Amino acid sequence: MSRSRTALQAAAASVAVGLALASCAAGPAAQGGPSTGGDAALRIATSFYPIEYAAQQIGGTRVSVSVLTKPGTEPHDLELSAKDAADLRTDDLLLYAKGFQPAVDSAAGLLEPGKVLDVSAAARLTLAAGPDGTEQPATAQPTAARDPHFWLDPERYAAVARLVGERLAKADPAGAQAYQRATTAFVAKLDALDAELTRGLARCAVRDLVTSHAAFGYLAQRHGFTQHGIAGLSPGAEPSAGALARLTDLVRSRHVTTIYQETLVQPQFAQTVAASTGAKVATLDPLEGITTASAGSDYFEVMRANLAALRAGQQCR
Ligand SMILES: [Zn+2]
Repeated sequence: MSRSRTALQAAAASVAVGLALASCAAGPAAQGGPSTGGDAALRIATSFYPIEYAAQQIGGTRVSVSVLTKPGTEPHDLELSAKDAADLRTDDLLLYAKGFQPAVDSAAGLLEPGKVLDVSAAARLTLAAGPDGTEQPATAQPTAARDPHFWLDPERYAAVARLVGERLAKADPAGAQAYQRATTAFVAKLDALDAELTRGLARCAVRDLVTSHAAFGYLAQRHGFTQHGIAGLSPGAEPSAGALARLTDLVRSRHVTTIYQETLVQPQFAQTVAASTGAKVATLDPLEGITTASAGSDYFEVMRANLAALRAGQQCR
C-alpha cells in the first residue's frame, strides 16, 4: 500500500516538474506552480515553501498549487506585487500562516474569508523571542511576536497538514477521499521523520545550538537543545557587536564546536563567530525555500541532511 502510494506520488511529482519546466517559458509568474493543468479542481495559492509542499503532497493531481515566495528568495521580508495580489483573487484558496509574512497577512485580509486558510492556530506557535537569542514560552505576546517556524518540528507540521487536508476536502468534496488518504500518508512520513530525529538526537555531547537566525526553536525544544540565534526570529535583524561578543563567549565556555549557517541568508555573522572561536561552520537549513544550494530536493531530504549536520555538529552518538 505504502509502496504504490509512493510510486503514485513520484509519478505525480515528475509530471509536476515537467509542467513547471514547460511553463517557465511563459514567464516568472508560473514559477513554483502548478501541480497539474488547467483542469484542476482547485487553484491553491500558498505563502511559502513548507505550505506549498504540504498542499502539493495532499492535493496531488487534483489541485494546482502556486507559491508567493519565489524559489531562492528569503520569505520573512516578502513583498507582493500588484499582480501577485490580483492573481490571488482568481485562486480558490490561499493557505498561509498569519504573523510570519506581513505582506501576505495584508493580502489575505483583502480576500473573502471563505477563500483563506490561516494555519497558525494548528501550528501551535507557543514560543516567542526571549533575551539574548534564546526563546521562551509565549505568554502575553501578540501573535506577531511568536516564533513562526512550526515546520521544523514535524509534529507541528503534521497538525498543519491535517488542517490543510480537511480544508481541501471541504472546498472540493469530490476529492475528499483522495485528500484524506494523501494526508494520512504525508502525516505518516512526518511521524517517521520525527522518530528518526528523536533517535538521532537523543545522545549529544553539545546541547547549545548556535544558529544563523532563530528558526530552530521548536526543534530545539522537542529534542532538548537550547537555541542561540545569531540573528533573531527574522534573519533581517542583524546582531549588535555586544550580542556577537556574548555569543562568542558562550561558544567558548560551552565548548560549542559548530556554528550553523543557512542557504538563503549571507553567512558573514556565522563565519565571524566561528573565526573568532575556532568553531567550524556547517549548514542547517531552515527550509524556508528549496534551491540548487539545498542539500536535497524536498522537505524530507533536507530535514534528513539537517539531522546528519546536527549529529556531527552536536557530537551525537
Ligand atoms: Zn525564519
